[in-house]
Parts: sequence; C-alpha cells; structure tokens
Amino acid sequence: MDTGLIKKKLSDFKIPPNLDDYEKVRQSFSYQDAKKEIDFVGGKLNAAENAIERNAKNFRKNKIALYWKGADGNEQKFTFLELNDAANQFANLLHEFNVDQGDRVFFFLSRVPELYFGFLGTLKRGAIAGTMFAAFGPQAIEDRLGNSQARILVTEPELFDRVEKVAHKLTNLETVFVTGEPQKVKHLKIHGKKVFSFTETLSKMSKNYKTRMMNPEDPAFMLYTSGTTGKPKGVVHVHKAIIHEHISAKFVLDLRDDDVYWCTADPGWVTGIAYEILGSWSNGSSTVVTNGRFDPGEWYSILQDYKVTVWYTAPTAIRMLMAAGNDLVKKYDLSSLRHLASVGEPLNPEPIRWGLKVFGLPFHDNWWQTETGGILIANYPAMDIKPGSMGRPLPGIEAAIVDDKGKKLSPNQEGNLAIKPGWPSMMHTIWRRPEKYKSYFTGGWYISGDRAYRDKDGYFWFIGRADDVIKTSGERVGPFEVESALIEHPSIIEAGVIGKPDPLRGEIIKAFVKLKEGVKPSENLKEEIAQFVKKHLAAHAFPREIEFIDKLPKTRSGKIMRRLLKAKELGLPVGDTSTLEEF
Ligand code: ATP
Ligand code: MG
Repeated sequence: MDTGLIKKKLSDFKIPPNLDDYEKVRQSFSYQDAKKEIDFVGGKLNAAENAIERNAKNFRKNKIALYWKGADGNEQKFTFLELNDAANQFANLLHEFNVDQGDRVFFFLSRVPELYFGFLGTLKRGAIAGTMFAAFGPQAIEDRLGNSQARILVTEPELFDRVEKVAHKLTNLETVFVTGEPQKVKHLKIHGKKVFSFTETLSKMSKNYKTRMMNPEDPAFMLYTSGTTGKPKGVVHVHKAIIHEHISAKFVLDLRDDDVYWCTADPGWVTGIAYEILGSWSNGSSTVVTNGRFDPGEWYSILQDYKVTVWYTAPTAIRMLMAAGNDLVKKYDLSSLRHLASVGEPLNPEPIRWGLKVFGLPFHDNWWQTETGGILIANYPAMDIKPGSMGRPLPGIEAAIVDDKGKKLSPNQEGNLAIKPGWPSMMHTIWRRPEKYKSYFTGGWYISGDRAYRDKDGYFWFIGRADDVIKTSGERVGPFEVESALIEHPSIIEAGVIGKPDPLRGEIIKAFVKLKEGVKPSENLKEEIAQFVKKHLAAHAFPREIEFIDKLPKTRSGKIMRRLLKAKELGLPVGDTSTLEEF
C-alpha cells in the first residue's frame, strides 16, 4: 500500500518543537538529565508535588491549570494554586481518616474536578490512588475494589446505586465519600460502612499540607488494564514514573507553558492519569477536561472555544469524527491547533491523511501500555511520519523485535515488541499477582504481548496483539493491516478482523465491517470489498468471509475487542466483559 511519507521541516514551525532533532537527542539523552527537570529532596520525590505543587509556588501560581466543562455545559476554572489547595485539603482529609502510606484510595467518578485534585491529594499523602471508569457496572467495581482491598472510595450521587449493590461484600472498604451538595447526599447509607459528604468533609480541612516525600520506588497509583485480551490486571506505578511522564509529554506531546491542551482520555485509563494529570501539568500547560459524552459538534466546539493548541486523542474517536463528514468540521475555527497525537489502538493511514486535509495537521501515532506507564514509541513533531507506523523509541528507551527466547531479530522480521527494562515509568508490579508480573520478562527484555516489526530506518510497525495474529495458508497476517486496507474502501467506516479456524488453510480471515450511513449491504458489495483488499494488500490477506455489523464490540476506552468477535463467531465463552462498551 502506498503510505506516502509526511515530510517535516524545522523551518515550518513558528517555535521549534521541544524535541527538535530526534537523532541528536537520542544519542546524547540520559535520564540523569531528565531528572534535573524533576524536584528531588534528599533523593526523595512526590509525583504530585511535581505535577501541581511546584507550579502553585512558582510563576504559574495564578495560571489556569484546569478548564472544566460539565455535561450540562456548566464551566469552572482552577488555577494551579487553587488546585493545589484542594489537593492539600484532600490529603488532610485522608490524614484525618487515618489513611497512611500504601493504603488504597479509589475513585469511582466521572470526569469531575474532585477526581483530579483527589488523585493528587492521595499521592501527596503517600497513599495509592486507584481510578475506575464511571461507566463500570457493579461487578467491575467489586472486582477492582476487592482485588485492591481499597479502604476509601470517593464516588458521586449518580453512581452511588452501583456502589451500594456491592459494598457489603467488600470487607476492606471502610468509608465512602459522595460528592455533590451535602444536603442531597445526607440520606445516603450503606450498611456497615461510613458514608460522608465529600464536599462538607473537605470544606473543614486546612489548605496547608506538608507533602510526603517518597522513595522513588514507592507506589503512587494503580489501575486496571483495558481488558481487551482477558481479565484486567492491576498495574502498580511508582512515584519516579513522573520522570518519564514529564519528559515524554515534553517530547511527544510537545507541551509548553503557553499551551491549552486537551487529552480526551478518561483517568479511568492510564492515558488520563499520565497525560491529563501528571506529565502534562508537570510541564505547566493548561488542561481542558470535559465531562460530556462524545459528540462531533461538541468536540469541535471545545477545540474552538478553548482555543486548544495540542490535542491528544484516540483512533476510534478520529474515525467517528471522520464519519460525521467534512462539512461539519468546516463550520468551526480550529486555527489554534498546532499539534495532534493519537494512542490506544493502531492508527490507520486513512485518518492521518484526513487530519492533514481538515486540520492541516497529521495525527502523530504513539504506542504504549498501562504497564509501561508512559509513551515509549512515538512520532514526533519534527520527525518525518510514515503513515501506519508507530514511530521510533523515545530517547532513553531501547525497543527491539525479539523472538520467543528474547533473541533480537533483523529489520523487517516480525516478532515480539520488546523493551529493555529499567525506564522510570515501568510498572512496579501486578497487584497480588507476582507470577503474572514475572511472566512479562524473558531473556532480559520486557515482552509487550504485541507483535511488530522494525524497518531499516528504525520505525516500528504494529502487526497485532500476539493472540490476534492470523495464520492463514502458512502465512502470518496482522489484523491491523487488513483493517487498514478495509477502511480505505469508500463504503467502510470501521472493521474488525479475526482468524477463523479452517480445516484447509489453518485459519481464514474473517472481517466484520461497519458500513457508512446509507450504504446498502449486499453480496456484491462483499465481493467488491474482498477484491479491493486483494488488490491493495496481498492475495493471501483478503477476507474470505465478510459480515456486515452495526457496531463493533469495543472496550469503554474504544479498543476493538477482537477476542469477542472471535468468541461469538466460534460459539465460545466470551470471558471477562467488565470493560465492554454497552450495545
Ligand atoms: P488488556 O491488557 O487487559 O488486554 P489492553 O492491552 O487493551 O488490555 P491497555 O494497556 O490500555 O490495555 O492497552 C495497551 C495496548 O493497546 C497495547 O498493548 C496495544 O495492543 C494497543 N495499543 C496502544 N497504542 C497503540 C498504537 N499506537 N498502535 C497499536 N496498538 C496500540
Ligand atoms: Mg495489554
């Protein structure tokens, strides 16, 4: 497929990007230098001190840290100082409730301001913050609170019912705080648990708090993976992760003081923590948070009204914006945008070209995982983009393609995407599953579970998750390349591809395809699509079976759940569906 290199020239930038010369910085970079941008006191640090407190004490004090827009259109602003004060109050509240270092404090909240300062306050206290996406049902909450043995939970009135259903089963859970007007939450009760108004309790707390400085390896937060491939894992991250989160936000998202930055991820997932709270604020940019649902017009309004300069989003959202058509986007003034990035799933070349067309900017794909705690492979503002490639490893990161024993493979050979352990944001452990943690490491490498190859120029190309790679007639085919080819077809919006067992070919390729509005499904169209892929990709990689589908099963964070498509196809048990988006 012609991917068409997108050339970058330094002279095209009004202000040179933070990472202006990838090759040069990669040669000279050391984490010792990155550490100089982070506050340490006697070898100790606190991630929240770096993200918020130091800005509340320096020239950014009265600068807006958080622009918040509620689902009802209500807006609020917090300066760095105000946000830090609120975080201090929450840290004092935890102290008051005897929460100590290492205790788990969980948040089951939509994207409300309490989530942001509550998270930071928990870190200041030295406790471990945990987040849960607001769309989770009772079972998902019970699994996470039970596994983590959280003592404190902060939730909101709208979500209280779900907590109430399972709270009695959670022996470690002592206290539940409910946000909202104190009068309205007074009557809420759970048998055997203390229930308090968050707002009222917080208001009594002092705004002064002496942030606890932590050992670099002390846990700061934990969260569960997306559950795309199986049961979500409780990944624990430590305070020193801020070093990598800071430097990656600077290099990849190119964040600066004068930026208004919008990360569309939810802090229920790692992107929302690392790049909506920690790495982004530690670079001093203003962050926009909206608590509304996805809606193309609303999203464009936010970009326009807040004059967003840097936008970090996900392929699924970009594809939905594309499906809303180009007439809509033309109605908005989006001239403030200067840098676009994407994560979470492979970014097909089609949306990158669309970005160039409608925003005059390409989306920059980058790769990482809950376990890696920060972006590890990326496309940078000042580096040429090969559409469809995840880019190149960050300065300080050694990435390679290795075989199952950990032996490095040559360029263009498919294998396991692996990282040399030891980068600062690498997970510390998997909560209560030490064996699982160990299983990630082979032959001196962290094995990601993703399959990829590296080309001769050092760019990495995602093939698929190890479990999703298809073996058909002796050839290996990645679902991503077939999906990318499929969505180039003018009638197709989205596609999910799986391998289906076949007595003759081992597996055949089956594609689930979502058609554009108004396109009529037909046998002829199936044939046309199959021929289209055959022509654009490779003869063996075309889907022998095509099924039209109204909606692809996705995680709540927007990832296509191919394991569900496969289970449904083969009539097998579907496994853990706690993160499945509702149909
Ligand atoms: P689980 O581990 O529970 O199955 P998950 O792997 O989806 O869930 P996350 O840690 O949120 O949980 O997602 C990381 C995975 O997302 C990566 O391993 C990769 O498969 C995919 N991914 C993320 N970014 C990219 C990208 N830019 N290109 C391709 N794949 C990506
Ligand atoms: Mg994973």
